[in-house]
Amino acid sequence: MHTASSARNENRRPRLVPTLLLGAIIAGVLGGVAATVLLNVQHDILRLAEEATRILLPDIQAEVRTVVNLERLKVFGEIVQHSDDPAERREAQLAARILAMDAVYEKDASIKHQVNQVYGIIERMATYRAQQDAVRRPTEPAQKSLPDGKVVLANDWQEASAILENLVQHLSVDAAVTVFEGSARIARQAKRAMLVVVLVSGGLALLFVIMILFVQRAVVQPILRTTYGLKQIHNQPSVLRMRRERLQELDDIASAVGAFGAALSQINERTADLEREIAERQQAQAKLVELATTDSLTGLHNRRHFMETATQEFERARRYRMPLSLLMIDADRFKLINDRFGHHLGDEVLKVLAMTGQRQLREIDLFARLGGEEFAILLPQTDFVDARVVAERLRQAIAGHTIDTEQGLLNFTVSLGLASLNPVTADLNDLLRQADVALYQAKQNGRNRVEPAVIG
Ligand code: GH3
Ligand code: MG
Ligand code: MG
Repeated sequence: MHTASSARNENRRPRLVPTLLLGAIIAGVLGGVAATVLLNVQHDILRLAEEATRILLPDIQAEVRTVVNLERLKVFGEIVQHSDDPAERREAQLAARILAMDAVYEKDASIKHQVNQVYGIIERMATYRAQQDAVRRPTEPAQKSLPDGKVVLANDWQEASAILENLVQHLSVDAAVTVFEGSARIARQAKRAMLVVVLVSGGLALLFVIMILFVQRAVVQPILRTTYGLKQIHNQPSVLRMRRERLQELDDIASAVGAFGAALSQINERTADLEREIAERQQAQAKLVELATTDSLTGLHNRRHFMETATQEFERARRYRMPLSLLMIDADRFKLINDRFGHHLGDEVLKVLAMTGQRQLREIDLFARLGGEEFAILLPQTDFVDARVVAERLRQAIAGHTIDTEQGLLNFTVSLGLASLNPVTADLNDLLRQADVALYQAKQNGRNRVEPAVIG
């Protein structure tokens, strides 16, 4: 049953494909933003590292070198102070001088000044020791003046050592600060990058969890519910039986519908058969009618059809007092044509006669082959004068027609007898007889001519 709450649930349930699509878009955007930020941070770190190498490293190197120089200066100073070997002291003094002249202090005037101060003390000590040696050599007991000198020497060197000590310490701190500052900046950038990575990873993880929950709700739960439902049905035979009964009913309805459909298609087929049969019969009938009313050689109406139709036309013309004329036509010396050109060509002459005649007539005129080489034409609504014109035109058309045969050109003629309906005409046969008489007259008068019937 579809309850209100389940309907609400379905309404509330987000649609699967759009939600997944939205999730994918958010993940894509998040990923894109993260990638951009990370790229920027990476770029900054590389820049800082490069800067450190380019700017800080020479500074640090200079500071380290200065420290080393100062340490050495201290050593050489001590040699000058304590060594009894005058040559060694001279070398030490020279080395101290070289160290004091190193260009590395040029950048810082204060260091340069202090280094010069220290060298000045070393030089003074060297001079003093040399004077001591000169005093000691001629007279051994010249020791008296030494204690004072030693004190001076010790005081000088203490001052120099203090300066050196101070400088070294200061420089070490400076180097450390420089290194620390560079590292701190890199560390800050790295920290930023880490933060971005953590944030993006967190976002993606959250999104992943949301998507999983969504898929679980939209796909997994319905599948589980369906599976559970199917299991329930499987475990309850009564439900299944009910389903089976319903299925059986549906099957019965389906077979009934199928049977109905089959019957319908049979009816349709039968109907089509019947329609086909009717059409065939109509065709056959039309053919029979045609056979019964048409002359097979010329395609004109035959005698029987002519007589039937002409009788009706005759009665109508008489009733409505309409003109009506009749032509009787007979091929001239047809026997001779047959004899000379053969029976087959005789037939051809009859066909040409029919065709040529038909061309001269109207639709309502009735042209028929009465038999052999004899024809008749009924001309409804045509009086004697008009009929004579038609007859003459017909005669001329036929006489003017030439048939090309193997034995040479063939011309043939016809004789025509004309009779028109008049008050004394008794019936169709009377009219036919009058026209026949006229035809006989045409033959008598030399053939290839139209002869009107003589009334009375
Ligand atoms: P006339 O001018 O006096 O009419 O001379 P005719 O030779 O036409 O007259 P006749 O009646 O003596 O001859 C008619 C001939 O027509 C006889 C017959 O063999 C021939 N005939 C009749 N029916 C057909 C036909 O269907 N085909 C052919 N080829 N000849 C036919
Ligand atoms: Mg004849
Ligand atoms: Mg004839």
